[in-house]
Amino acid sequence: MAYKISGDCVACSSCIAVCPTGAISIQQGNYWIDPAICNNCEGYAPEPLCVSACNIGASMPLQPKKGRVKAIENPFTVSPSLFTNGVSTPFSSAIAIWEACNLLAQRQSLPWSLDDSGTLVYERSVSQGKGKIALRLNNIINFSYPRSHLESQTILASNTLDIRSTCLHLLYAAYATTLEKPWEQEFSISDSQIEEYLGLDKRKDLSKSTKLNLIKTLAIQPCWITAQIDWPKQGKVESFSLPESPLWSLLEIVHHFHEDEEGCKHLIGLTFRLKAGDWSQYFLNKKECHAGRAFYQYSHLPKSLLGAIMSIWQQHEGAARMLLWLLFKTRMGDQQRIMVMTLMRVAYGEDRVNQAISQREERKRLLRMFESDLEVVNRYGLKPIFDPVSYPTEIQPLWSKLADIPDDAEAALDFWINDGSCNLRLTDVGPRGKWQMLTNARILSFELLADWEQPAELSRKKRKFERSQNQSTKQRSSSKKVQTANQSLLSGEQIATLRKNLQISQRTLAEKIGKSQSWIRDVENGRFQAKQSEQQLIRQALGL
Ligand code: SF4
Ligand code: SF4
Repeated sequence: MAYKISGDCVACSSCIAVCPTGAISIQQGNYWIDPAICNNCEGYAPEPLCVSACNIGASMPLQPKKGRVKAIENPFTVSPSLFTNGVSTPFSSAIAIWEACNLLAQRQSLPWSLDDSGTLVYERSVSQGKGKIALRLNNIINFSYPRSHLESQTILASNTLDIRSTCLHLLYAAYATTLEKPWEQEFSISDSQIEEYLGLDKRKDLSKSTKLNLIKTLAIQPCWITAQIDWPKQGKVESFSLPESPLWSLLEIVHHFHEDEEGCKHLIGLTFRLKAGDWSQYFLNKKECHAGRAFYQYSHLPKSLLGAIMSIWQQHEGAARMLLWLLFKTRMGDQQRIMVMTLMRVAYGEDRVNQAISQREERKRLLRMFESDLEVVNRYGLKPIFDPVSYPTEIQPLWSKLADIPDDAEAALDFWINDGSCNLRLTDVGPRGKWQMLTNARILSFELLADWEQPAELSRKKRKFERSQNQSTKQRSSSKKVQTANQSLLSGEQIATLRKNLQISQRTLAEKIGKSQSWIRDVENGRFQAKQSEQQLIRQALGL
């Protein structure tokens, strides 16, 4: 049971000095024991030290609060909420943000080193070694882990960092894009906003104090990262060097309390005041970007990704890592070929992959895990398109092959009859040498769910629109034409109705337009929308 401080406290500070866990702090002028940190002095003293230190008996056992916690008016002004369209929000996709996301997600799998001061450093070269980004992890200190020992420090970082803190990091990157000069202006987020973004508001199994404790832990971790950047000349933007500075500065955590009849404070809310680091002056600077002296790199963050990470982080950490990495990678263009081995390294780390190369059992385990994690990635919005040459059906995961089974009962029967007469059946185990084949296998691209893809499309149009604002009326009218064309896009339901009217199976339609049957099914189910060029093919196939 934790302890609490009553309203009789005279602020003598005696208890702070003796508390072995650092649970006592002064928040908004009040002495307060953080129940998430206080351990009742277990392992330190036979009796709570704050009780013996307090001459007036203000430190007393904390009884669990019964009933619902009253919602309070947050007296602190917070920044406007994100995800106003309910689906996605712009966020800074600069390389420093991507690499920091990798750092929080991949932790022990990264090639760490120690600098002269014994701080962990993750370095990555840019522009073929012409530049460099160094991310350091400060504030992770535990004296049981020797400061100068790389392996100990890596284990400490890996044990301390939580992959869910990537969600907070991405939210900060989103808030930074709402500001004109993020390197000068601050933003504030409340715990209830974070709860809603992460889907914690729907978790009835978690108490308010558990949620607050989790949010506080996750919110602090991205602020431990510092960035040092040596950037080479790129296009019009001249080379620059950015000395080590925090990626995110946590200016203040404001605690909101409810006072009980004994004058004890109970934490019922948090507000985080933050500011983006100096990197944003070079990578999120709209004004200087127009003048060609800096970058303004942003993309769209699907809200569903945050919920996915919060749901799968324990059971499918590999899938969570892949989703986070692909959030940035898929923004680099439609045709991003990705080697399977690269994805495996992202999901499980270099060491684990090397182990699989040399050990048969580990190889089997990793393969099973990869196929299952890839299915999770597919379920949460990114459908892999396998390269038919290097990643043929025989080595594709079973879940992907089963996706081709037609919905229609008769067509499904034909499908299984055909499959039975094939040399290699759908449910046969993979061929010998499957791992060897996978080492050269590639995924051509990922088809994106609407909330992943549409915003990217919109952002392209927005950038195009911004560029065209100062141009001729002719260009503006052509932009309108694109919008009109988009309005006449066939919905999945319309495609399904038209196809059924013509008595064409999904498979036949798929063959006509050079797509897979599962692709047609996904479009008809509204999982994603066919692009303009694909719509054209569908229209032709349906005789429109
Ligand atoms: S009981 Fe011990 S750990 Fe808890 S606040 Fe008091 S001194 Fe600190
Ligand atoms: S709780 Fe007691 S010991 Fe701690 S500051 Fe208040 S009066 Fe002093």
